[in-house]
Amino acid sequence: MDTAFFLRWIATVTERVRAERDHLTDLDRAIGDADHGSNLDRGFTAVEEALVTTSPATPADVLTTTGTTLIRKVGGASGPLYGTLFRTLGRSIGDVAEVSPEALADAFADALGAIMKLGSAAEGDKTMIDALAPAVPALKVSFDAAAQAARDGARATTEMRARKGRASYLGERSVGHQDPGATSMAIVIDSLRAA
Ligand code: ADP
Ligand code: MG
Repeated sequence: MDTAFFLRWIATVTERVRAERDHLTDLDRAIGDADHGSNLDRGFTAVEEALVTTSPATPADVLTTTGTTLIRKVGGASGPLYGTLFRTLGRSIGDVAEVSPEALADAFADALGAIMKLGSAAEGDKTMIDALAPAVPALKVSFDAAAQAARDGARATTEMRARKGRASYLGERSVGHQDPGATSMAIVIDSLRAA
């Protein structure tokens, strides 16, 4: 996978986040503060501009610019978390022109570790981790398998009680709603397949 692939991936995420903006915000209205869709849409719109302005030369440049822009533009909890995901992917794959599927899977494992550390969250806490963590081993199989695992993981957050983030303030009342961040993470992983 080359620079064009990674640009296509991020462009696909941007397009889908824009299309799902109101749905993501509605999910966050139920168990948060109704800004997840607008947070990510603002962030990825800024990413779109940054990628045009900087015209990145390598896959790592695409990922680092994406991550840095999200950290700068997204105020909510999801900004630093998604920013860390993309920046860690960039650092992990390093200065190469082409990325193998194995290297990308390893980079995602690093990124999962970095997000878990930053947010001190684990699987089962009803966060974006619940979509990302099952996708990481599935990436060793195929993008299709990873997309399916992320979607299933996101769906499974519905029955969970939130232990991290704003939704945790609701305690038991967070049960019965799908987590917005897990839902957007499933979009991010599914977009790999599309790209
Ligand atoms: P905020 O909660 O600040 O309004 P967003 O609404 O943009 O930010 O994002 C909320 C999402 O962030 C949640 O649905 C959850 O998936 C994710 N999240 C919140 N806290 C954590 C954490 N500590 N670790 C991992 N993900 C988290
Ligand atoms: Mg929110």
